[in-house]
Amino acid sequence: MNHREILEAAGLRKGEISGGTLVVHTPVDGSEIARLSCHSPDEVRAKINSGAAAFQSWRSVPAPRRGELVRLIGEELRAQKDNLGALVTLECGKILQEGLGEVQEMIDICDFAVGLSRQLYGLTIASERPGHSMRESWHPLGLCGIITAFNFPVAPWCWNAALALVCGDPVIWKPSEKTPLTSLAVQKICQRAMAKFGDAPEGLIQVITGERETGEILTSDSRVAIVSATGSTRMGHAVGMAMARRFGRCILELGGNNAMIVAPSADLEMALRAIVFSAVGTAGQRCTSLRRLIVHEDICGQLIPRLKSVYSGLAIGDPLAAGTLVGPLIDRDAFEAMEKALAQVRADGGRVHGGGRALGNTFPEACYVHPAIAEMPGQTEIVKRETFAPILYVMTYKELDEAIAMQNDVPQGLSSCIFSTDLRESEYFLSAAGSDCGIANVNIGPSGAEIGGAFGGEKETGGGRESGSDAWRGYMRRQTNTVNYSRELPLAQGIKFEI
Ligand code: NAD
Repeated sequence: MNHREILEAAGLRKGEISGGTLVVHTPVDGSEIARLSCHSPDEVRAKINSGAAAFQSWRSVPAPRRGELVRLIGEELRAQKDNLGALVTLECGKILQEGLGEVQEMIDICDFAVGLSRQLYGLTIASERPGHSMRESWHPLGLCGIITAFNFPVAPWCWNAALALVCGDPVIWKPSEKTPLTSLAVQKICQRAMAKFGDAPEGLIQVITGERETGEILTSDSRVAIVSATGSTRMGHAVGMAMARRFGRCILELGGNNAMIVAPSADLEMALRAIVFSAVGTAGQRCTSLRRLIVHEDICGQLIPRLKSVYSGLAIGDPLAAGTLVGPLIDRDAFEAMEKALAQVRADGGRVHGGGRALGNTFPEACYVHPAIAEMPGQTEIVKRETFAPILYVMTYKELDEAIAMQNDVPQGLSSCIFSTDLRESEYFLSAAGSDCGIANVNIGPSGAEIGGAFGGEKETGGGRESGSDAWRGYMRRQTNTVNYSRELPLAQGIKFEI
C-alpha cells in the first residue's frame, strides 16, 4: 500500500486531514502526509466540559456494563488491526511488525479490562467496635486526561483508556503533535464501538489535537481529575508540578536508561539476540530500549565482536517493507541528538562502532541511521542521559555488586535485566539490594513488557504504574466505610463522651 492508501484504509479522509496548521511528516521518507487543524483553547475547554458532564452519568453505569463498551472497542480493534498497525508504522516509523504489535497490546488490554470490570474489588476490614462493619470501596475518580508520546502513539492511550473507562472515568486524549493521525483513526474505532453500545454519554471518549500548550490546558483545569502523561522527563516535571499545584492526581511514565548485566554464566546466544532486539528495535526509540550493556570482563572478548558483526549486517530500511529490522528516527532533531551524543562519547575517550546516516541517497528527507555501539572507559555523564536513538554503551565489570551499583547509578529507573544461569546471582539482582527499577528481568531483555504486569519505573521515570496488576486503582478513589448495625454508639479509641 502507498501512503495515501494507508491513510484511507485507516478511515482518514483527505478533507479532514488537510488545510490545517499542524503539519505531519512520515519518517519513512520525510514527506508531508497531512495538515491538521488544532483545537483552540476554547474548544479544548468545551471538550473538558463535555467530558466532565459525561462523568455524571458514566460513574453510575454498572462496571460490567462499562466493560461491555471496552469489549466492543477491542472487537473493532481486532477488525482494524492491519490498517491501524500500518498507520502506526507510517506515522512513527517503527517496523510493521511492531506497529501491529502495538495494536495487539491495545486488544490485550481491552480483554484484560473487560475481566477487570467485574473485579474492582475492595476489602472488608475487622472493626474494633461491636455491631460494626468496615469496608473499603472504590469509586470512579473523574475525567482522565491522557497525554502520549510519539514513539508509542496508540498502545499507552489504550493502557490508560481501557482501565479508566471500566473504572467509570471518561477520557480525553492529547496525542503527540508528531503522531496525531493515529489518534484520529482510534477515535473513529471508538465511535463505531459507542454506536454499537447504544447509550454511551457524549464526551465519554475524546481527542484534542495540538502541541504542548494544548496539554497544559488539561493539566491546569481542575475538572480533569487525573492526568496520565507519557513522554520525556522534562515534560513530566512540568506536568507533575502543574498537577501538584491543584492537588490533581497524575500518573507519570517518563524516560528510561535501561541496562543489561551479562554475567559469566550467561547463555551468550540468548543474550546476543536479546541485546540486538532491545537495543536496535524501534531504532532505539522505546522508553525501554537497551542503552547500557554491563558485561563481565571475562566474556567481553567473546560477546562484543559477535555483537559488532551482527550490527554490521542489520537490515536497515523502509519500515513498511518485509525483512526490515531497523526503521528511521522520527525526525532531524533526533538525528542531531544522536550525532551530538556520539561526539561526546569520542570526547570522553569512548570507541564508536557504527553510527552515522544510512540510506541518505534513497531517502534524502528522512533520518535513517546505523545503530552504534560505544565502548566506554566508564559510565560518563553522556551515558547517564537518555538519548532517544540507537546507541548502546558498553562497560565492563569484575564483581556483581559493582555491576548493580553501575546499573542503578543513573537518574532514571524504568527497566533492567540480568543474563545469568546462576540462581544466586539472578535472585540477588531481583532482591531489595539489586535493581532499583520498576521492571527487572532475568534472561529477557528490558523492552517488550506484557500488559498483565504493572508497567512503569522509579526516580526520573516518574513512579507511575499503568496497564496490568492493580494499576486500575490509579483511576479510582478509595473510600473507607464504617457501618454501625448495633443499637449503641461506641466510639473508637475507647473514648467516653457522655452528653
Ligand atoms: P515529549 O515529552 O516531547 O512529548 C510527550 C507529550 O507531552 C506530547 O504529547 C507533548 O505535546 C506533551 N507535552 C510536552 N510538554 C508538556 C507540558 N508542559 N504539559 C502538557 N503536555 C506536554 O516526548 P516524546 O519526544 O514524544 O517521547 C519520547 C520520550 O517519551 C522519551 O523520553 C521516552 O522515554 C518517553 N516515553 C516513556 C514511556 C514510558 O512508559 N515510561 C513510554 C514511551 C515514551
